[in-house]
Amino acid sequence: MKETSKNFNSYDEIECPHCNEELGIEGDDLADLITYWGENGSIEWKCNGCDEEFVIKEEVSRSWKVAKTDEDLD
Ligand SMILES: [Zn+2]
Repeated sequence: MKETSKNFNSYDEIECPHCNEELGIEGDDLADLITYWGENGSIEWKCNGCDEEFVIKEEVSRSWKVAKTDEDLD
C-alpha cells in the first residue's frame, strides 16, 4: 500500500526546468497528461511559479503482480 502511494506521487509531481519548482498536477490537468502508453507526445505547459513555458512528455511503465489469491498480493 505504501509503495502504491509513493508511485502515484512521483508521477503527479513534475519539476519546472526553468525554476526547479515542484509542480503538483491534479484533477483535469492530470487527466490531460495521462494516456495508456504515453501516445500523446509532448504537451506544452506553463509553470505557475515562474510563468515560463516548457513541455511535458509522459512516459508510461506498467507492471502486473500475480498471486494465487487476493490475500497473497499484499
Ligand atoms: Zn518555473
